[in-house]
Amino acid sequence: QTYRPRVATAEPRRNSVGVQIGKVTVGGGAPVVVQSMTNTDTEDAAGTAKQIAELARAGSEMVRITVNTPAAAAAVPRIRERLDMMGVDVPIVGDFHYNGHQLLEAEPACAEALGKYRINPGNVGFGKKKDSHFAAIIEAAIRYGKPVRIGANWGSLDQTMVARLMDENGSRSDPWDAGAVAREALIRSALESAAKAEEIGLARDRIILSCKVSGVQELIAVYRDIAGRCDYALHLGLTEAGMGSKGITASSAALGVLLQEGIGDTIRISLTPEPGQPRTGEVQVAQELLQTMGLRAFTPLVTACPGCGRTTSEFFQELAKTVQGHVRAKMPEWRVKYDGVENMTLAVMGCIVNGPGESKHANIGISLPGNGEAPAAPVFIDGEKKMTLRGDNIANEFVQILENYVETRYTS
Ligand code: SF4
Repeated sequence: QTYRPRVATAEPRRNSVGVQIGKVTVGGGAPVVVQSMTNTDTEDAAGTAKQIAELARAGSEMVRITVNTPAAAAAVPRIRERLDMMGVDVPIVGDFHYNGHQLLEAEPACAEALGKYRINPGNVGFGKKKDSHFAAIIEAAIRYGKPVRIGANWGSLDQTMVARLMDENGSRSDPWDAGAVAREALIRSALESAAKAEEIGLARDRIILSCKVSGVQELIAVYRDIAGRCDYALHLGLTEAGMGSKGITASSAALGVLLQEGIGDTIRISLTPEPGQPRTGEVQVAQELLQTMGLRAFTPLVTACPGCGRTTSEFFQELAKTVQGHVRAKMPEWRVKYDGVENMTLAVMGCIVNGPGESKHANIGISLPGNGEAPAAPVFIDGEKKMTLRGDNIANEFVQILENYVETRYTS
């Protein structure tokens, strides 16, 4: 058999119906959208608007806020006004649980100011009230021309659906295990709610679905399944992913597999921020996940070797940190220039072993001298050695080379 190298790209995107949320398109072949959520009390309009603006500046293209009380609903139009005054046009998504039908009815200005409503079929209401509460929210969405995310969640499964599936399962010759019943309950909850929303009159291009769970393998199984059963746009996210490296690793593992298979139109990385860490960390992880997979290009990616005994100089680590810090500080200015253009890489390498080679693969690369090597740092631009830096000012000179490259290549 002839060996055929695989093409180094993700699989083609799953076909989905595009949904417009303000200026942002989710699905329908649009780039995968990054979104996040605030953790402020929505009743605090100033604090919430400030955090939304921070998340938007970090690159969040939609920001969700909880709308849980009449005072929170009343604050939403004031939050929108504050954002407009700051020149932040990011769509706000209202997250409703239990009382969404009442809040949308009582606060028309809230219903109008939001870019999208998110509802959870597991808690829009119970028994007979469930249908009327659900219908009231969908009717509000139709009245105000807003899309809706129907977001089922493992932690708040629709118990009527679970009971129905358990009954069905009892009569199967090959009964499912409890995990399979829960996955099917999540999926059917989302799909049947979407069908009901369409019956009420919400257009297909106003519906996004999600089925969030907290386990990596369960999330992959659920989304592979639902992706093949509908063409609604899909919001991906691992719920309750956790803190720090655990949360990042689990989210990246789950979302990476699905995105590679072309599944997912918008993502949220749900991280619990560590004390003192900014909320914007989850936006950075989402962007880096999409960019390292070659799905979007936000800003130059820095490739740095890990360092080893061949380069004991702290200068090497400092330079990698300086370059990475500079690139992040340039957001969102550079993001605007880069998005959808191409993936640009910068290599910061510690010695001659892999330094020149890796630098040639990058748009701009620098190979610092390792122990015992001549004190010179060759710089490669678009694969060619263009200059050699020496002395104490290498970091500043390299950053200037980077600035010049961006200006000449992306701003004309
Ligand atoms: Fe070590 Fe040089 Fe490889 Fe960096 S490039 S890890 S310094 S051998």
